[in-house]
Amino acid sequence: MILLNPGPVVLSRRVRRALGGPDLCHREPEFAALQHTIRRGLLQVYDLDPSRYAAVLLTGSGTAAMEAMVASLVPDGGTLAVIENGVYGERLSKIADIHGIAHAVFRAGWGAAIDLESLAAWLRGAREVTHLAVVHHETTTGRLNPVAAIGALCRERGIGLLVDGVSSFGAEALDFDGWGIAACAATANKCLHGVPGTSFVIARREALSSPGVRPRTLYLDLDSYCRAQDAGGTPFTQSVQSFYALAEALAEFHEEGGRPARQARYAALARQVRDGLKAMGIRPLLADGASSVVLHAYHLPDGIAYATLHDHLKARGFVIYSGQGGLAGTIFRVSTMGAIAAADMERFLAAFRALPPGRPIA
Ligand SMILES: *Cc1c(COP(=O)(O)O)cnc(C)c1O
Repeated sequence: MILLNPGPVVLSRRVRRALGGPDLCHREPEFAALQHTIRRGLLQVYDLDPSRYAAVLLTGSGTAAMEAMVASLVPDGGTLAVIENGVYGERLSKIADIHGIAHAVFRAGWGAAIDLESLAAWLRGAREVTHLAVVHHETTTGRLNPVAAIGALCRERGIGLLVDGVSSFGAEALDFDGWGIAACAATANKCLHGVPGTSFVIARREALSSPGVRPRTLYLDLDSYCRAQDAGGTPFTQSVQSFYALAEALAEFHEEGGRPARQARYAALARQVRDGLKAMGIRPLLADGASSVVLHAYHLPDGIAYATLHDHLKARGFVIYSGQGGLAGTIFRVSTMGAIAAADMERFLAAFRALPPGRPIA
């Protein structure tokens, strides 16, 4: 089965093989070495200096990393601004709400571009804001949000920038220093091609250690993970097999040319799919150039319900992804992450072409 959903992804043979590594206790030095390799490999994705940044590994899906980032890095008395233009921006607000963190929302429509002038004006009026959280690639619609420009606004006002990079880390550019990113949440099983189970936050070390701050959560407190991991340990059992897979996926990632090569590969596959679908009269949701290289959203073909399209393609070996919320009945999404190649996308387009013509949906 070829997975064209935004994670989990099709695994390479070597990553799948790594899953069957030796039994290993997470209190043994072999685990410490494995963990160290992964933490270093993650920082290398964006050439980050380990004395200034830390990769903090968690066992949980990408949402665990989002929640750990927000709950651990906005101090008591802090106020979080959240930018929402899709499901994941809304999830950031929900996390702040659950943890009782004061927050203010800058909202754009799902799929709409973030208007930077309005955002700047809004921030001028929101003097209490200490941190700002934004989704880099809003997977709801495929839109890539302008984190560089948002980071510049934050820097002017001394606001700490927290990024949900779950579906962009490893493929899209992220300039941690230049954009002033204090922390970025991400996961093993999207652009890095590992398996679900491990997620992580990359944070500035100075943002992590705030002595005397009472943690809001036991399991997702980044500072305690970071201290334990710096000492070669872990506060709780980690998903050892998922670590094996991530270490192998990172080795493969770096051997293949690192982040720029992965971005180029996704961009070529996404263009192939977009051009192929356009030639069949399928309209993309967003204008050319607005989407990430990771995922593009398309309007459903006339008269075809999502379930019909999904089942037709699945019977031919391809899993696509539906729209969420208000977009559920109108769009479908195609991700080009994972160990897939141009020939797979050619077969996908052929399967799409074999779709029987639509009837008006009752
Ligand atoms: C996938 C994703 C997440 C996390 O989803 P999980 O189901 O918890 O892995 C968070 N943010 C974005 C932008 C995503 O695409």
